Amino acid sequence: MRRLILDHALLPEGWAKNVGIDIESGTITVVHPNASAEGRERITGIALPGLPNLHSHTFQRGMAGLAETRGPEGDSFWTWRQVMYRFLGSLTPDDVEAIAAFAMMEMLEGGFTALAEFHYLHHDVNGRPHADIAELSHRIAAASRETSMGLTLLPVFYAQGGFGGTAPAEGQRRFINDVETYARLLEGARKAVAGLEDAVVGIAPHSLRAVTPESLRDVVAMAGEGPIHVHIAEQVKEVEDCLAWSGQRPVAWLLDHAPVDKRWCLIHATHLDAQEVKNIANSGAVAGLCPITEANLGDGIFEGVDYLGAGGCFGVGSDSNIEISAPGELKLFEYSQRLKHRARNVLAEREGQSTGRSLYDKALSGGAQALGRRIGAIAAGYRADLVVLDAAHPDLSAVSGDRWIDSYVFVTGTAAIDTVFVAGKPVVRSGRHLHREAIRTRYERALARILV
Ligand code: ZN
Repeated sequence: MRRLILDHALLPEGWAKNVGIDIESGTITVVHPNASAEGRERITGIALPGLPNLHSHTFQRGMAGLAETRGPEGDSFWTWRQVMYRFLGSLTPDDVEAIAAFAMMEMLEGGFTALAEFHYLHHDVNGRPHADIAELSHRIAAASRETSMGLTLLPVFYAQGGFGGTAPAEGQRRFINDVETYARLLEGARKAVAGLEDAVVGIAPHSLRAVTPESLRDVVAMAGEGPIHVHIAEQVKEVEDCLAWSGQRPVAWLLDHAPVDKRWCLIHATHLDAQEVKNIANSGAVAGLCPITEANLGDGIFEGVDYLGAGGCFGVGSDSNIEISAPGELKLFEYSQRLKHRARNVLAEREGQSTGRSLYDKALSGGAQALGRRIGAIAAGYRADLVVLDAAHPDLSAVSGDRWIDSYVFVTGTAAIDTVFVAGKPVVRSGRHLHREAIRTRYERALARILV
């Protein structure tokens, strides 16, 4: 049992001082506001529940910055994807693990304490399954173990190159499975995480363009109660291609043809009509927003004001990992809406409400739902995942309460992060991961070889 006392903590019922928490096997068993310090380790600062990161492809961290040079014409998501396919072409299992560990370390230093890894790189460099079809799932699990990142592993089902059964391109051959090999992969992924504390395996049909209606139905049936994530309506071209294929927009098609409910997380959902906005909100699914990546890729702007107005839930993800920052994702979500609507504080719901706090609370509950784990609150029964801000930071020292979160989201960003706990154990101190040097050295060696 570990017994901590937190100077300041954000509890479900609000801010509290001198909060004692008892932790057993990584889970909070009792919370005592106004506790005595006796027999407890004091954690100075401002403790928040760690934010879940609901969408990432960790390997893409290694290509951050490599697709920022203008090409011959029409740079877009699709030309970025060509760079990404070239990058992943040579990655070995050791490379995948080294890059994943580096990305997870930066996530922990960046305010995320749990991750849903949308894992689609399965096969070897020639597109052949490894001797263990789940070899690369084992590598993601190993990175999670090394960094202590809480893990929801989402093995991706990717069956075809595009709508209507287009054959996969060469750059996609490391992703491809049929329903039968996917079932084996899923079983292998469950074994890969079996030794991790409290890990979850869900499923992830890659996108409507990568599956057939029949195979989508077959893999959704494998999910049980676990999470189901899918990329959807990220690009205008994808909406147009889906209309040409089915006569329906992607979200409308999905809601008509799949049992979308609270288990589901619709990643991006950028291009929505008014009916789709309402229908996602009513389905109970989470919208998985990745504002930094969506801006980097030129995807478009989510219908945030209407969606939150309809009661929709959301969480945030670092997706391509071009920049890893939990507060940065929330800031850009709000700023994108300010630019779109030419107004301020648009995602807070009522007069007097802090925008930072409102965004943080919603991303906690939506993220926890999308990851399928008991996380996202400092309360009995939840994992002891905490992000502790430095109360002496010049932008935090003179304020209190929700102003702390406004400053964290809009002013300091990750610079205010001091200590991070996962499952009750410190993994970041003074802003740095405890295994930073070893993880960084291995990452640098891998990239030096990959990028020659
Ligand atoms: Zn993605």
